[in-house]
Amino acid sequence: MRKLFWGIFIIYLLYAVSMSTYLFTVNTPLPEHYVGTEADPLTFMDEEQYQLSSQFSKWRNVIYFINLPFEWLIYLFVLFFGLSQLFARWSEQVIRFRFLQTILYVILLSTFSWIVTFPINYFSYTVSKKYGISIQAFQSWMKDQLITFWVEAIILTIVAYVIMLIISKRPKKWWFYTWLLSIPFTLFLMFIQPVVIDPLYHEFYQIKDKELEQEILLLAKEADIPADRVYEVNMADKTNALNAYVTGIGSNLRIVLWDTTLERLNKEEVLFVMAHEMGHYDLNHLPLLLIGMIAASFVGLYVTSKFYSIIINNFGKQLKVKYDNIAALPIILLILSLLSFAASPVSNAISRAYEYQADRYAIDLTNDPDAAVATFHKLSVEGLSDVNPPTIVKIFRYTHPPMVERITHIREYSKTTE
Ligand SMILES: [Zn+2]
Repeated sequence: MRKLFWGIFIIYLLYAVSMSTYLFTVNTPLPEHYVGTEADPLTFMDEEQYQLSSQFSKWRNVIYFINLPFEWLIYLFVLFFGLSQLFARWSEQVIRFRFLQTILYVILLSTFSWIVTFPINYFSYTVSKKYGISIQAFQSWMKDQLITFWVEAIILTIVAYVIMLIISKRPKKWWFYTWLLSIPFTLFLMFIQPVVIDPLYHEFYQIKDKELEQEILLLAKEADIPADRVYEVNMADKTNALNAYVTGIGSNLRIVLWDTTLERLNKEEVLFVMAHEMGHYDLNHLPLLLIGMIAASFVGLYVTSKFYSIIINNFGKQLKVKYDNIAALPIILLILSLLSFAASPVSNAISRAYEYQADRYAIDLTNDPDAAVATFHKLSVEGLSDVNPPTIVKIFRYTHPPMVERITHIREYSKTTE
């Protein structure tokens, strides 16, 4: 099994080298019909900004595509080298109760993967800092890393405990019962996200600029969004990028505007961003995505259970893992991660379609395409984003349409509504 691992590792290295070479050297020339239009980055970025955004995007893409299979490699490593089995044995020797054993196992597994992924995470942070996007101090960054570690460890403990319990009780149909339980659990996580998880990282409050707040709430009123659903978040001491988003579910559903967005955009631009987020809110994009996710996890968990049986039946003895033992958890995590990667082009495409919808909604509401285009220009400059990414990057990474397409879409749409 160890030989197999090193074989896979060499394939990974070859992939990492060729993928980075491709991403660093690939040129995606702007299609002819965009050149010189307001979607052309050279019309709204100076030469230096353009170079910086191009380099920064390349680094980010390389880090993304190298990091992703690295997670799969970690799962294989802990299985093939007996670490997962060792962690499970230790946990069983130290404590008697199954839930406490699961906690200990998850902490050991998470600590191992945290340590081996630390260099690449730290590198990603330094790249972002070097290009002036992140301005977060190391201490603050480290604090966020540790918060993430514990949040993920708590969630994984619950998931692992429940899955293994169901597998031992319902070895054939475990995927179905897991899916049933995953629905309230996902709803619960979405519900507490804005009020329990997010405040661990950032500070949320009512919009500070009272004049601007009035304008924003007036707009919200038009779409029947209650005033207490609009929040500002303190991001200015961490990043130079601009953003806004919709989050939560039920009584915790809310629109959040980064303070950097409120500071650096003018009134009309802020109102366009707000109208766009209201589009997501009003068009029920979050609940729709949730339904999609639940449907996809029905198929995903079924497929996972099939692959899981095949792997345990064929390699269980060699790997010294049993069907219902926590030591086999990395197999399930590996399959789930591979499946979600395989589904990401679809979920990204749906997300991009929703972005277009929200953009059109915002134009209908504000009737201000100039402010929309100016906003996209500023978002691209401040965030050093790649206006026209390579296709593979768009397919796997872009939850939002590239700016070239978004700007053109806004202009074409506003022409039809005139
Ligand atoms: Zn959006």
